[in-house]
Amino acid sequence: MNSMSTDAGLLDQQDSLSSLRSKFSLPEGMIYLDGNSLGPLPKAVKSRVDQVMTEQWGNSLITSWNKHQWINLPQRTGDRIGALIGAAPGQTLCCDSISINLFKVLAVALQLRPGTVVLSTEDNFPTDLYMVQGLRDLFSARSIELKLVAESELTASINNDVAAVLVTHVNFRTGALLDIEQLTAKAHACHAAMIVDLAHSAGALPVALDAWQVDFAVGCTYKYLNAGPGAPAFLYVAKRHLGKAAQPLYGWMGHADAFAFSPSYQPAQDISQYLTGTPSILAMSAVDAALDVFAQTNMQAIRDKSMQLGMVFQSEIARRGLDQYLTLMSPSAPQARGSQISYAHPHAYAICQALIADGVIGDFRAPDYLRLGFTPLYTSFADVFMAVDRLERIMQDEVYLEDKFQRRQKVT
Ligand SMILES: *Cc1c(COP(=O)(O)O)cnc(C)c1O
Repeated sequence: MNSMSTDAGLLDQQDSLSSLRSKFSLPEGMIYLDGNSLGPLPKAVKSRVDQVMTEQWGNSLITSWNKHQWINLPQRTGDRIGALIGAAPGQTLCCDSISINLFKVLAVALQLRPGTVVLSTEDNFPTDLYMVQGLRDLFSARSIELKLVAESELTASINNDVAAVLVTHVNFRTGALLDIEQLTAKAHACHAAMIVDLAHSAGALPVALDAWQVDFAVGCTYKYLNAGPGAPAFLYVAKRHLGKAAQPLYGWMGHADAFAFSPSYQPAQDISQYLTGTPSILAMSAVDAALDVFAQTNMQAIRDKSMQLGMVFQSEIARRGLDQYLTLMSPSAPQARGSQISYAHPHAYAICQALIADGVIGDFRAPDYLRLGFTPLYTSFADVFMAVDRLERIMQDEVYLEDKFQRRQKVT
């Protein structure tokens, strides 16, 4: 055994989370560094969805809405997600997608706050920016303006014209982490609402929405929460805003008394108002089951291991001199980034394809980023060393120049 694999062995032995890998169905031999895009299948999800299909839907049919409490699954699952993001019960709901949830919370923030500017960052995830543009165009009379600045300019750009500051906690390309508590304080000093996208935070690192006094948040469950492709997202509305203004997608599930079937809309006064239509029970049962694994650890332990995995990867890249080809685009200090590391390279797409062909799954983000996620629940230190070994061979032999790795597919 060489010294590297001894290191990996020792690190894996000391890893208090190592037993959790067995909770996931991962293909033999695959090194999965893309849990930041789509988490793998938890075994508990498979059995829960099967149970909900056969026992609940199959046997109890429509009576399941009461009998199996399907009716309040969005609230129950929401509260369980809330526990992972520092939200007391009654403020988090599992529903819809990030995009739709953003529309809802943005519309409420704009009703509650006097400003007209939605301030965000140039390289925020596009759907976040598109939803603001959609609202702006729909309510053109209000002359809402989307203003985009560099992350470093954010704090200085918050002023009294701003109605809402919309940021993603962890930058999806670089992994850079924003100081949400400090941004929220500045937003509040300027009478603006703080809206945070937790797509790359929920299940990846400790978040304290209540303590930071964030106003609204959204996030998905298919990345670090491992609930499956297109699984329902979540939203958070601070208690002080509930019942103050209604989100405008007046669906019957958000009515104060849905089963009165009244022709006129009366908004529920609690978080339920943020529901729209009938929830996807199968998909939401998957979310609920995927959360079980988090009861066996805590967000700080997950964060500690994620930083350690990232540091090991980074130092192996440097030790082998690979940093002369790959430019680190993430903050160098693990405390300053989320659970991913990105490198820029003119052939990033092809390098990623060559890695995938070699059993290491990462992803590519335009324009030229190779993005690797370090997800502590199922990634071992041995995985990290093997991933660097394979990356080293691909870089040194310029394997990525092969034609087959250069062809672009629809989803990157
Ligand atoms: C993944 C991601 C999304 C995706 O939004 P959906 O509506 O769930 O497709 C949105 N914002 C950020 C920051 C993301 O990383």
